[in-house]
Amino acid sequence: MVMTRHALISGASIAGPALAHQLAARGWRTTVVERAPRLRDEGQNIDVRGAGREVLRRMDLEDAAPAAGTGEVGLRFVDDDGAAVAEFPAGRGDSAGGTAEMEILRGELSRLIHERTRDTTEYRFDEQIRELTDHGDGVTARLAGGEEIDADLVVVAEGTRSRTRDLVLPDAEVTELGLQVAYLTIPRTNDDDRWWRWHSAPGSRSTSLRPDNRGTTRAMLAFLSDVRGLGELDRDAQVTVLRRTYADVGWQAPRVLAALDADEGASLYFDAVAQIRLPRWSTGRTVLLGDAAWATGPFGTGTTLALVGAYVLAGELGAGSDTADTSDTADTATALARYEERMRPFVARSQDVKPAALRAMNPRSAAGLAVQRRVLGLAGSLSSVFGGVLEKLSSPRAEAVQLPDYRLTA
Ligand SMILES: Cc1cc2nc3c(=O)[nH]c(=O)nc-3n(C[C@H](O)[C@H](O)[C@H](O)COP(=O)(O)OP(=O)(O)OC[C@H]3O[C@@H](n4cnc5c(N)ncnc54)[C@H](O)[C@@H]3O)c2cc1C
Repeated sequence: MVMTRHALISGASIAGPALAHQLAARGWRTTVVERAPRLRDEGQNIDVRGAGREVLRRMDLEDAAPAAGTGEVGLRFVDDDGAAVAEFPAGRGDSAGGTAEMEILRGELSRLIHERTRDTTEYRFDEQIRELTDHGDGVTARLAGGEEIDADLVVVAEGTRSRTRDLVLPDAEVTELGLQVAYLTIPRTNDDDRWWRWHSAPGSRSTSLRPDNRGTTRAMLAFLSDVRGLGELDRDAQVTVLRRTYADVGWQAPRVLAALDADEGASLYFDAVAQIRLPRWSTGRTVLLGDAAWATGPFGTGTTLALVGAYVLAGELGAGSDTADTSDTADTATALARYEERMRPFVARSQDVKPAALRAMNPRSAAGLAVQRRVLGLAGSLSSVFGGVLEKLSSPRAEAVQLPDYRLTA
């Protein structure tokens, strides 16, 4: 008789629900615990490219995801008066352009995957793992609420600042890159169009506004700072930092700051962008997935890698795959090792972020900003002539993942 295996997954953003989807499709019982009281809606438009898009296809979400897209028509750099410095229209394929063709709010993608899994997966919000005991043939998790859950596998998909990771694999090297990003949802005005508008100011500060499909506008304040730990401050302290940092910035920065004062307080997600490196991603029957394992930093590859990682982990664990039969402890270990072996090269390429590139994207001086605007203007006009070639050259590396084929045998 085949026993139903049980995976306890911590984190209900992208990686966790995507894994629940893939494991449930292979006959696993799945439980997801999420620290937040409900699915988190914050965040901006994210691009799902290349292999990430192929995973959505294989999850049968390809049609639903574009329907939930934001209709963004491209990326426009603007000057202090809002006039265009350069324009990069949305890409036409899986992976092209500043705005990819499959471009969706992070919260919408999370909701779509949650909707597809809520009948097959038990979701426990407002809950988190406090303690893990690995018995060799299974793991017992004690939750904050006191309950104990037995599982064959525990998957930690809690993002960059994961706490459960520290219980099992405490050697994570967290490298803050100095880029601080605040994501806010603000009221839309009649002047907001379908372009992603990006304004840079001296002092390595930028403000950007993007359309969404909810009748609001997604704002991003991003700046370079040597001060570390801003991500751990509470909301009031982060708002103070943002107000002081942007006090003299023009264009739409005053409007974004004003939204922070609104009665209900604009939803705010503050991220001190960091990379995570670990010598290994699993120990015994606990494994890390997504940003908790390999956060790559600022270039938007996190979601693509989370989807691909979930697909590969489930595929390697799945009974019925061509490559794995994980009916005992040794096979689980083999599957976890194969998952790591397959994902490491893609993660390594995506983590190859040059600090100089971050500085070039966020110039410190007015002279540096003037140079950046000239270069962007040139690139923008070249892109209208040599669009396809430039898009190929600018494609992020994470999309070049070759997906293995795994059979579904639920
Ligand atoms: C609210 C939010 C907004 C974001 N906005 C953007 C954006 O605008 N642009 C962008 O490029 N990336 C954004 N990201 C990051 C992006 O989602 C990830 O880089 C990528 O999708 C990989 O996702 P992940 O599932 O591995 O981790 P994450 O998306 O970071 O999700 C981790 C999940 O685990 C939960 N969690 C954390 N600790 C615990 C715990 N101890 N117990 C249980 N649950 C826990 C978190 O609440 C969260 O739901 C955002 C992430 C979040 C959480």
